[in-house]
Amino acid sequence: MIKDLFLLDTGYTTQSKNLVLQGGGSEKTHLPAQIPVFIHETSGVILFDTGYAEHFYHETRKGLSRLQRILASPHLSSEGSAAAQLKARGIDPCDVRYIILSHFHPDHIAGLKDFPHAKFVFKSEAYDTLVKASFLVQAKLGFLPGLLPEDFKDRCVAISKTTLRQGSLLLPGFSQGYDLLGDGSLWGIDLPGHAPGHLGVALEYCGKTFFFTADASYLYQGITDLVYPSPVLDLVLSDRRAFQDTLHRLNHLSQNTNGIVILPYHCPRTMERFSDAIHHCLEV
Ligand SMILES: [Zn+2]
Ligand SMILES: [Zn+2]
Repeated sequence: MIKDLFLLDTGYTTQSKNLVLQGGGSEKTHLPAQIPVFIHETSGVILFDTGYAEHFYHETRKGLSRLQRILASPHLSSEGSAAAQLKARGIDPCDVRYIILSHFHPDHIAGLKDFPHAKFVFKSEAYDTLVKASFLVQAKLGFLPGLLPEDFKDRCVAISKTTLRQGSLLLPGFSQGYDLLGDGSLWGIDLPGHAPGHLGVALEYCGKTFFFTADASYLYQGITDLVYPSPVLDLVLSDRRAFQDTLHRLNHLSQNTNGIVILPYHCPRTMERFSDAIHHCLEV
């Protein structure tokens, strides 16, 4: 079971709100990269993605990849990468056992090299589709292979369809999930459309159901108000129709939540909404 759960804020980009929410206005909004850290009673420290890290700057210093740095112009958190923040909490990055990957965009995998003993858990198509693509298609999809550790392939744990089963969690519209640790504590949930094999994670903690939805919507408001991002971002989606279908199902879920806390990776409200949701546990 999950003994502890907390979020780390690893940095942010600044974009026009219109870009991530059609009709959102031209004002600028911060888009943080926030990762949940799960402490499992027997499997230890588990991350869902890594957020930004210094490696991103190294990999985008020249060539076509430099365009990614210019377009995203991310800022690292003043508290440092996920590895630095874990160290500050007394957790050795070498002790991170698993990193579940929602997808392979650089803001989700930039810190992988900082966790030398972690195994990487993801849908096989999330990686296979990218690695088979040409250099230009990889660039269009935002894939930076240099962010992967040299022994990446030896440390992969592909999520098997055999772990797909009816979840014990009540997530209307998302009745099936991958039982990632085999004990019902962490569920991988398909959220197709944003990138190949795009995955969310759901779990029960502190008497509530938390659903980390990665990049299925950049903002929580996109889910509650059913608003798509700008069509400009369709260029980077792996499947526009699937993305819209996923967003519709999340919108439906948000209106029938029964206490389910939906937390997008980039939403500026995620940290505060998470703190509010666990507040009653901290008081006990
Ligand atoms: Zn993404
Ligand atoms: Zn992202």
